[in-house]
Amino acid sequence: MSKLKGKTALVTGSTSGIGLGMALALARQGANIMVNGFGETEGVLSEIRSIGVEVDYHPADMSKPVEIEDLIRCTENRFGSLDILVNNAGIQYVANIEDFPVDRWDSIIAINLSSAFHTIRCAMPGMKSRNWGRIINIASVHGLVASTQKAAYVAAKHGIIGLTKVVALETARTGITCNAICPGWVLTPLVQKQVDARAERDHVSNEQAKLALVSEKQPSGEFVSPEQLAALAVFLCGNDASEVRGVAWNMDGGWVAQ
Ligand code: NAD
Repeated sequence: MSKLKGKTALVTGSTSGIGLGMALALARQGANIMVNGFGETEGVLSEIRSIGVEVDYHPADMSKPVEIEDLIRCTENRFGSLDILVNNAGIQYVANIEDFPVDRWDSIIAINLSSAFHTIRCAMPGMKSRNWGRIINIASVHGLVASTQKAAYVAAKHGIIGLTKVVALETARTGITCNAICPGWVLTPLVQKQVDARAERDHVSNEQAKLALVSEKQPSGEFVSPEQLAALAVFLCGNDASEVRGVAWNMDGGWVAQ
């Protein structure tokens, strides 16, 4: 419980799915948590508070640079520092490129890629002044390989891996590290929408659609869990990972080994 005691973690998009898993795991290591994201927050805040750490919530829309600046400023003011930054907020939209709505492209690039540029540029001066920081970008296997109908998502996720490497190089001689985690399929609300679409398209049950979706890309035939991804994030936050810099670490049931 004490590995991250005294540190503060901001997890963007931590009201649901992978981000919530990250926030809970970091809190269990003693870190204070700034929660961000849409939807119901009271249950999330009380679950984290019950672990015995301090927790607060900021409603920044991660597509808006001014709100992101306020999120970083408020985190530092509320907790005294921002030590661990998990760039997790993300959305998906699926369509062939000729049908891809321009506003969906813009939103995905803003939320899944540009938001990380803004959080990192705003958090960096504080991290440099303390010569310690952990930046973890939640990319995707789609940062390493492509799939059809995901032009914006794949472009954003490839982009965030490039950003990860630049930040890792710029901080290489400091106590700040920057790495990316690349999950395969994780059964969160973001993926459930794709399961629902598939069930409707193929006239199959939810269970059949889930199995078909995961098996198509992931040789293990199993979903990755938020808890497994969070355990990797906790490792990246520790001293044993101080020389892990600029990696894009996939946890994907064998997806990109093919
Ligand atoms: P999710 O839909 O369960 O959670 C997304 C979170 O982001 C929510 O808290 C939501 O409120 C928040 N969010 C969305 N738009 C936002 C905005 N404009 N401002 C602030 N918060 C916003 O999704 P998830 O599956 O947990 O995805 C989390 C991350 O993991 C995303 O970056 C996603 O691309 C990535 N990822 C997911 C999978 C998967 O299979 N689920 C695989 C690889 C990568």
